[in-house]
Amino acid sequence: MPSQVAAMPAGSCSPADHALAEEAARHAAEIAEKLGLPTDTAAEAARRLALSRCANTQPPEGPLRLVAETAVALAKLGYTGTAIQLARLLKRKKSDIHAALQALAARQLAALDSLDTILCLPHEALPQSLEDLAEATREAIERLLAEHPKLEAARDPATGLPVAAYTRCPRCGAPIETRTGPAGCPRPGLRVEQRCPSCGWTSSYTVCKPPPCSITLEEGCRPDNS
Ligand SMILES: [Zn+2]
Repeated sequence: MPSQVAAMPAGSCSPADHALAEEAARHAAEIAEKLGLPTDTAAEAARRLALSRCANTQPPEGPLRLVAETAVALAKLGYTGTAIQLARLLKRKKSDIHAALQALAARQLAALDSLDTILCLPHEALPQSLEDLAEATREAIERLLAEHPKLEAARDPATGLPVAAYTRCPRCGAPIETRTGPAGCPRPGLRVEQRCPSCGWTSSYTVCKPPPCSITLEEGCRPDNS
């Protein structure tokens, strides 16, 4: 009766989703080793969590959930994580690099703002220095922005969320129209829309304050949690 991991076809998972799962598995195994948990099981738990949306796999429970959630959050950071996130966005944005870069910059910067709440485990349990990973993420975004001078990051005065928007159309260089509005996330969020009246290029994305880790250390480590 209890729903064990259903082996669902992973048809809707992209290669980038699988890359994220493998990075998460690598982080999870290292965290598990530090915590004295089985590394293979932790790696598999992180894979399942990373693919839970596209492959409909059941997320793990108990201490492994803590490890898996932290590992998936870490897998989205750094140079590799930023590259994987760009690949995932390119698929969703139908390979429009400009639209993907906008969403990537805003979301990675939003994740950096919330690092203390999105990770489930204390820094000591992490496989590598969180500061290094955060620095690499920030640097990756700054360099991407530097290569695209028409794309600028700023903060929305109302929500404080990072926003990335083009100052001119990335396709034809004409003046561009920008609109922002509420995103409809359960937490503070923003929807950003840009449209070029000259060539018709459009882009939209949402950036929301990332959800905090959904499980606490006490909950996850309750020894009699069956
Ligand atoms: Zn244009």
